[in-house]
Amino acid sequence: MRRLFLVTTALAICVSACGDDDSSGSGGSSSSSTSGSSSSTSGSGGSTSGSGGSSGGFELDNCTTTVGDDVPDFFKTYFKCSDIRVDGDEIVIVTKDLPPHKSYYYGQDSESYEAFDTSRGPDYRANPNVIVEQNATVRFPINPTPKAGLVIDASSVNGSIDGTQADEYPMGTGGVALDSVILYNPLAAAGDDIEDEKYTFDIYNGHPDRSGTYHYHTTSMGPLGILEKLGVVTTTTPGEAQVELYGVMCDGTVVMGCTELDGSAPDAAELDPQNGHVHDIVSKDGNSLLTDRYHTHICPTWADPGHKFTPEVQFYNACTVR
Ligand SMILES: [Zn+2]
Ligand SMILES: [Zn+2]
Repeated sequence: MRRLFLVTTALAICVSACGDDDSSGSGGSSSSSTSGSSSSTSGSGGSTSGSGGSSGGFELDNCTTTVGDDVPDFFKTYFKCSDIRVDGDEIVIVTKDLPPHKSYYYGQDSESYEAFDTSRGPDYRANPNVIVEQNATVRFPINPTPKAGLVIDASSVNGSIDGTQADEYPMGTGGVALDSVILYNPLAAAGDDIEDEKYTFDIYNGHPDRSGTYHYHTTSMGPLGILEKLGVVTTTTPGEAQVELYGVMCDGTVVMGCTELDGSAPDAAELDPQNGHVHDIVSKDGNSLLTDRYHTHICPTWADPGHKFTPEVQFYNACTVR
């Protein structure tokens, strides 16, 4: 009976909490008209790679990446399959949110379809949703400003929507992963448990919500596949890769895994309840790519600190999603 109950709970959560309610967050305006609306791929000196064709399925090798010349190296180096540009003092990332890897959620008619992995146990059961191409925009300042007086403690990082939500990320699109997949925050609707959502994840730890928006809430092999292509890692298993970087939230907070960008271990003693702290983001070859940047760590192999999802509390002032 308990098993049946868990399955039912997981499905119910995906219909309710995993919906497309984008309005309950506080992180600032959720609609900001994109000036010019076209991320010029020609004429502005940006570079485009990939053919973007869907033949052979969606893969890292055939997705289209467009990056403006003035985009900071951190984003230019690690973010693929998206359209990235600088607009004034902001970075703008536009994504179709089509994961460049196989997924059950592409549906059986897609070349990117694969069967749902039931080897993980009887509680794992796909949700009824199918991936739908999106046109999502995330923008944040190149140099984001920390929220004044913000306190990130156990009461604000509690995994649910409640009276402390003033500083929580919005529901729905909350960031973008290296592989162009949308990041959601870790929040479930009041009374639900985010931990139950994992039962509908595909093997990349992603799933689509009612609107067809495919997203991650936690670690994934997908972003690590980009680090593998770049020659930075030799395994894409979260918790085992030499360097683990996943994406960026809509306020500019960086999401990392068990390591810093140079492969070193984070200082666990200085992490806040969502495994966040501030320091320079330095690459393996010693380049400081982001200065004094708040970032969080998701590490499946850590018992403590144990936050296993994207951050819940927004560290920086501005978050714009559309
Ligand atoms: Zn979800
Ligand atoms: Zn760190």
